[in-house]
Amino acid sequence: MDLGIKGKRAVICASSKGLGFGCAQALAAAGCDLVMNARGQETLEAAAEKIRSEHGVSVEAVAADITTDVGRADVLSVVGSADILVNNAGGPPPGMWHDWDRDDFIAALDANMLSPIAMIKALVPGMMERGWGRVVNITSQSVKAPIPQLGLSNAARTGLTGYVAGTSRQVAGSGVTINNLLPGIHATDRAQALDGPVAEREGITLEEARARRSATIPVGRYGTLEEFGSVCAFLCSQHAGFMVGQNILLDGGATNATI
Ligand code: NAP
Repeated sequence: MDLGIKGKRAVICASSKGLGFGCAQALAAAGCDLVMNARGQETLEAAAEKIRSEHGVSVEAVAADITTDVGRADVLSVVGSADILVNNAGGPPPGMWHDWDRDDFIAALDANMLSPIAMIKALVPGMMERGWGRVVNITSQSVKAPIPQLGLSNAARTGLTGYVAGTSRQVAGSGVTINNLLPGIHATDRAQALDGPVAEREGITLEEARARRSATIPVGRYGTLEEFGSVCAFLCSQHAGFMVGQNILLDGGATNATI
């Protein structure tokens, strides 16, 4: 399917690996020119070069921490204006509800709520002026169904979801859509980082921990970066112009809910 976004300029935050990289690959395959971002320069440059050589699109890479004012300013100075924004950042650490203090909450809110809001505020006005734009926020299945040990994530991402619910309706009349993409378990470093402590606690191998978690997913496996990126690219496409303020769950059926 032609997504109708060839030549559009897309910014993908936190995209040297994992889900962000999957989105960057899919948008490049659709013909978008990219600005990619992550903190680690070497991995980011390698990811950007892979996409340039595979898809022949222009890719600028900005090594910066997207959760800080300085990092966002660095990214935005290279971006200038953009047609497509994919918001992403690392997720907060797991823990117990009584462990987290104010600073932990502020860090989670900065990373997973206030940073995407700042990027939206910086780039959506230009999209509205030009009459076309797409924003996809990578959140989590924890917005639909809480993951108890990820209380910081549950809290911060739900806050972003509330902001998007109202804001998306305020900007839709200018041709800009904002939607959230909710990953369930996907085969990334992050998923492995969460499997590690389980394996250690239960005295099993990483493979066994993964097999146990896969068995809780109706599809019977973790999602792939390609599957995730393809849905993101569709949300950024011409075809998704009537989809506004939605929370698209991509979890292999893991969240047991009728709606
Ligand atoms: P990942 O494989 O660990 O990749 C994270 C990417 O983001 C890397 O490129 C990393 O590069 C970059 N990054 C992290 N923190 C950053 C920052 N502060 N500024 C700029 N770049 C940053 O993680 P993932 O699995 O793709 O997860 C992406 C998001 O989806 C996370 O918020 C995660 O909690 C959420 N999520 C993931 C899953 C899953 O199953 N994978 C499920 C639900 C939710 P650097 O480290 O070099 O910066």
